[in-house]
Amino acid sequence: MTELDLIIDFHKKAERQGPGSGRDTLKALGFMDLPAGSIKVADIGCGSGGQTITLAQNISGQITAVDLFPEFLEELDQKSKKLGLEDKIVTLAKSMDDLPFPTCEFDIIWSEGAIYNIGFENGIKQWKDYLKVGGYLAVSEITWISRSRPKEIEEFWAIEYPEIDRASNKIKILEDNGYTLAGYFYLDEESWVKNYYEPMKARFGTFLERHGHSELSAKVVNDYKAEIDQYFKFKEYFTYGFYIARKDS
Ligand code: SAH
Repeated sequence: MTELDLIIDFHKKAERQGPGSGRDTLKALGFMDLPAGSIKVADIGCGSGGQTITLAQNISGQITAVDLFPEFLEELDQKSKKLGLEDKIVTLAKSMDDLPFPTCEFDIIWSEGAIYNIGFENGIKQWKDYLKVGGYLAVSEITWISRSRPKEIEEFWAIEYPEIDRASNKIKILEDNGYTLAGYFYLDEESWVKNYYEPMKARFGTFLERHGHSELSAKVVNDYKAEIDQYFKFKEYFTYGFYIARKDS
């Protein structure tokens, strides 16, 4: 098994593959003034579909849930069948920078904790084409929440994701690219710890056992432990910002 196989195996049975919550998803949805009747939604980088299920339970219409890895989509398909939502959720294994969607197809493009894979600015530019005029984009994106930061965390993110920025700069990027902000908030500690890191910690033991405590599986666990430690050390400086914006034209 490669490290990527192990990472997929570690995450696939999880409710979520990133920080967030049903409460955050509904809060973002609450900023949208949606048309009556059936709407079309794309959920990009959906993972095993924590937010997809919440959306399906709260909108009328259809969701196309996209992820690069079929392993996550299989989990989502199983969950939606169990909940009787299979008519509302269609899964699609595709890369988020190579989507087969027609122009002006969707009322909403959703993406929680995933746009960083192709970069925020690149993503919002590419995906705009698939949105109807007046349609909404809802993305969560790693965001600085303080004016200055310790060098250690600055240097970490400069390597991991140099696009990290303050919300005002992210909003400017949205405005410069034909969107108008409809809402913004940021995720609180509960969305990171209770919904993401605590469930991760609870899976470490069984994951290591499943892989015979191999060197690579231990590396995966140690990398996540370091990420968790770093979150607690620097959580007053960064979090996920949730950006809800409307396509102008
Ligand atoms: N939205 C989910 C998952 C976030 S994790 C949640 O909040 O729980 C980021 C997701 O992006 C993972 O599921 C990963 O498989 C997916 N991903 C990574 N690169 C991708 C790509 N190029 N195209 C589509 N999905 C991708």
